Amino acid sequence: MPVQPATNIFEKHNHRRCLKGGMDEARALCQTQGLRLTPVRARVLEILLESHKALGAYDILAILDMDGMGRQPPVVYRALEFLVQSGLVHRLEKLNAFAACCHQGSAEGRGHEPMFLICTQCRQVAETSLKEVEGSIEKCAAALGFEVQSRVVELIGRCPACQGGAGL
Ligand SMILES: [Zn+2]
Ligand SMILES: [Zn+2]
Ligand SMILES: [Zn+2]
Repeated sequence: MPVQPATNIFEKHNHRRCLKGGMDEARALCQTQGLRLTPVRARVLEILLESHKALGAYDILAILDMDGMGRQPPVVYRALEFLVQSGLVHRLEKLNAFAACCHQGSAEGRGHEPMFLICTQCRQVAETSLKEVEGSIEKCAAALGFEVQSRVVELIGRCPACQGGAGL
């Protein structure tokens, strides 16, 4: 099965599908792998799926607190670790934040290697595939005799809407 392209979240799109697709995928994944989608794990994923903005662990904690789900950092960190390991959420190194994966509905989408496009103004994060630049990265590394084991590419800039200068 071909990998479905990630939704271009910078374009107008049916966001309800992102939200529902992400939750459905989480449930299916947990069912097939015998994992538990605890209420906290489910809620953390839902919070991240509600927008395509990158959120820090403490942003998420504040929302959980408002929900009355407690305010213990280890609980959030454990839930995030679970979601990142299962590929439903990505960790953004530069921002020290998290964003829900926007590859919908394909098992192959999980474990994919995304290239992130991060808007510094609105903090929205889009994904495209590292496959686009794959050969070039290996070539640069190989020129230095370097063996690549993992690749994290995060492009920092402004999304189309923020370039519009219309202000937020
Ligand atoms: Zn969306
Ligand atoms: Zn992804
Ligand atoms: Zn933006």
